[in-house]
Amino acid sequence: EARFGRPASPVVVTVANQKGGVGKTTSVVNLAAALVMGGLRVVVVDADAQGNASSALGIAHPAGTPSSYDVMVGQADLAEVLQDCPDVPGLRVCPSTIDLSGAEIEMVDMPRRAQMLFDALESFLEGDPGVDVVLVDCPPSLGLVTLNALVAADKVLIPIQTEYYALEGLTQLWTTIDRIRQQLNPRLEVAGILLTMADRRTKLSEEVEAEVRRHFPDLTLRSVIPRSVRVSEAPSYGQTVVTYEPRSAGALAYRKAALELSLRLERESGSGRA
Ligand code: ADP
Ligand code: MG
Repeated sequence: EARFGRPASPVVVTVANQKGGVGKTTSVVNLAAALVMGGLRVVVVDADAQGNASSALGIAHPAGTPSSYDVMVGQADLAEVLQDCPDVPGLRVCPSTIDLSGAEIEMVDMPRRAQMLFDALESFLEGDPGVDVVLVDCPPSLGLVTLNALVAADKVLIPIQTEYYALEGLTQLWTTIDRIRQQLNPRLEVAGILLTMADRRTKLSEEVEAEVRRHFPDLTLRSVIPRSVRVSEAPSYGQTVVTYEPRSAGALAYRKAALELSLRLERESGSGRA
């Protein structure tokens, strides 16, 4: 098996797309599991009040569980709320609860409201917690929580559903990323675009893939995630498809995407987060 890359210093990768249902959460949990299998030390931060990434990684998240909400409003250190993923030994998760749905309103008057997650990650990573990659799962909006996730990030990974409207909404995301880079986070770079839920039997999927590659020849990862029942049913077992059905097409595609991502992160990691 191919050797995974390891960044020289911890890299925060935010998985974002303000469209819902494009495969953000599925990609976060499966890339996380695949990166751990590749030997990397990974933390997942679930920053969506739905808590789908927490569930998919086998972590119960009733309201009141110490979570990304506490971290976001500055009530807890990230290290205090991390839980071990039962399905993927070594993977640590900052769960999310429904409490996060009220956070944006609470944060409005905070002077560092856009940097709350950045500050939390800075102090966590400063303590040298033995982490190579932090993966952040975002809600389907460009609100204050997503803004925090992009301000905290070194890289953003954009999942795009391989369907007719694939590129729609991307302009808005791109403008947001540019604005954040200019005003709040000059480090922010796009780590890649991941095509998800492709139906390899249809001409449409093929055309959409070609179009995305034409627009973003270097950014689009070579690995394309196929639409598969195995991928969508794994979360109901609190497992990732990478661990639950490691030989399935979906698992293999996520492992290949994780390998590509790790090599990009290794190649592009230099000076670190200083
Ligand atoms: P998002 O986090 O962007 O809202 P999800 O990762 O939750 O998107 O995916 C949306 C829905 O599509 C979920 O029900 C998920 O199980 C399903 N899904 C995601 N990826 C695949 C795939 N490759 N094949 C089949 N179903 C998928
Ligand atoms: Mg999601």
